[in-house]
Amino acid sequence: MKEEVIVIGSGVGGLASAIRLAKLGYKVTVYEKNEFIGGKVHTRDFNGYRYDMGPSIFTEPYLIEELIALGADQKPFEYHALPESFRYFFSDGTSFTLPTGTEETVKAMVEEFEENPERVRAFFKRIKKNYEVLKPVFIETTLHRFSHLFNKKLIPAILHIPRYGLLTTMNGFSKRFFKHPKSVQLMNRYATYNGSDPYKTPGLLSIIAHLELNEGIYFPKGGMVSITQRLADAARSLGVVFHANSPVESIEVTQGRVVGVRVQNTVVPASIVVSNADVHYTYERLMPLVKRPKKILNQELSSSAVVFYWGMKGHFGNLGVHNLFFAEDYQAEFKAVFETKTLMEDPSIYVHISSKAEPSDAPAGCENWFVMVNAPINIGQDWTALVAQLRKHILHKLSASLGQDIESFIETEYVNDPLRLQHTYNGKGGSIYGNSSNSALAAFYRHPNHAPGVKGLYFAGVTVHPGGGIPLAVSGAKIIERMVKEDFPQEAL
Ligand SMILES: Cc1cc2nc3c(=O)[nH]c(=O)nc-3n(C[C@H](O)[C@H](O)[C@H](O)COP(=O)(O)OP(=O)(O)OC[C@H]3O[C@@H](n4cnc5c(N)ncnc54)[C@H](O)[C@@H]3O)c2cc1C
Repeated sequence: MKEEVIVIGSGVGGLASAIRLAKLGYKVTVYEKNEFIGGKVHTRDFNGYRYDMGPSIFTEPYLIEELIALGADQKPFEYHALPESFRYFFSDGTSFTLPTGTEETVKAMVEEFEENPERVRAFFKRIKKNYEVLKPVFIETTLHRFSHLFNKKLIPAILHIPRYGLLTTMNGFSKRFFKHPKSVQLMNRYATYNGSDPYKTPGLLSIIAHLELNEGIYFPKGGMVSITQRLADAARSLGVVFHANSPVESIEVTQGRVVGVRVQNTVVPASIVVSNADVHYTYERLMPLVKRPKKILNQELSSSAVVFYWGMKGHFGNLGVHNLFFAEDYQAEFKAVFETKTLMEDPSIYVHISSKAEPSDAPAGCENWFVMVNAPINIGQDWTALVAQLRKHILHKLSASLGQDIESFIETEYVNDPLRLQHTYNGKGGSIYGNSSNSALAAFYRHPNHAPGVKGLYFAGVTVHPGGGIPLAVSGAKIIERMVKEDFPQEAL
């Protein structure tokens, strides 16, 4: 008889871990503090406008298909490739639509920014190669365990080190291939996909651009929430039991072994616990007596966000599914987020409109705008005042750029800020991805997927290895599966 497994939190990392461990034959129970399953990938409806409350950019759909295929329901997971990547709006009034597909993108960047086609191709080739070399040794396995180092792909990954761009920043790496400041800005923005600063994060992180630019950007039928809905269905089909509205109060550890968790003041026994909650919160609040890896937990945190969910009574033909209105001084924006910890008067604004891809997400003739700005973590700022100011700045910038009074179109409104994000998901300071990647060694200061001093305790999700974003959060579950097989060999099927 297999041991009991408890998963704390039902984000994509928790769901992927639940599926993989249930498939190994474990009896898995998921406790989720919120009333909904899915963590940040969940949906809300405001007066007929449907929103995905968190992630909107979907890459590597095969990773989700792979997990769904482990469950009983083999119904295909439906999604389609978007015909374009992003529409960019610059502060000088110009705009540029970034297509999908490597050759199409090369052509567009040559025509628009007079880039050298060979250098643009070289960039795409380099980030593809970097990703392919790193994936088997650093994303699907871990350098934190000796046994995982015995991988025939490790040597090529080591030999490739000079080519990753570890000794330069993402900005420096982009400049090696692109000469127009706008192209550089486009390539730099991928640092924000894991909450980091392109002027500090290593060039290696340009592999994030590979996923979107070489592999494509997708839209799941039914919206992003269909990812977590299908994962939860797959988990249930394998016998996983979910308890929503059930915050775990502590992780019980005895003599260096996990023995269960406390929920509603009752200890539920388990010899394997996977925490999908933020790793900082897990140490600080759920097991304050366990020795903390101070160096790892004292690193700078990734950014947070302010998101306005606006129901727009109107249709905007010059916008696509993904739109970005750049700040004029991009570097100053990251200084504000990471150093002065405030919001800029002229921030970059991301406008996502899922109703462009899925018209039923908004009433007829209307659009559901998800308007997001990168923000510092919560350190006690007056968010009510900051958000009110930000709203004015965003409306001013969007109205000027689109040539219309944007405020007059808003008929419903909801706002998320770092404080709300912190309370809703228990992420430290409302940070979205745990530690930032603002240094060359940041990857080594990310917590491993296991707790070195506590047998049976594992960590899943974007705050631990391998890092931020849905693809990495679900890849972490593969590492956990392997570690559990190694740590509990007598249990193997
Ligand atoms: C506004 C926004 C936009 C984003 N955009 C993108 C994007 O476009 N693409 C992308 O890939 N990623 C994006 N992300 C990041 C994205 O959210 C993650 O990639 C992914 O959803 C995180 O999954 P996770 O498994 O780490 O955990 P989470 O989704 O954070 O889930 C953790 C779960 O643990 C639960 N929990 C915490 N404490 C407890 C407790 N004590 N007891 C029980 N349960 C607990 C929480 O309630 C939560 O449900 C975005 C995030 C935000 C906030």
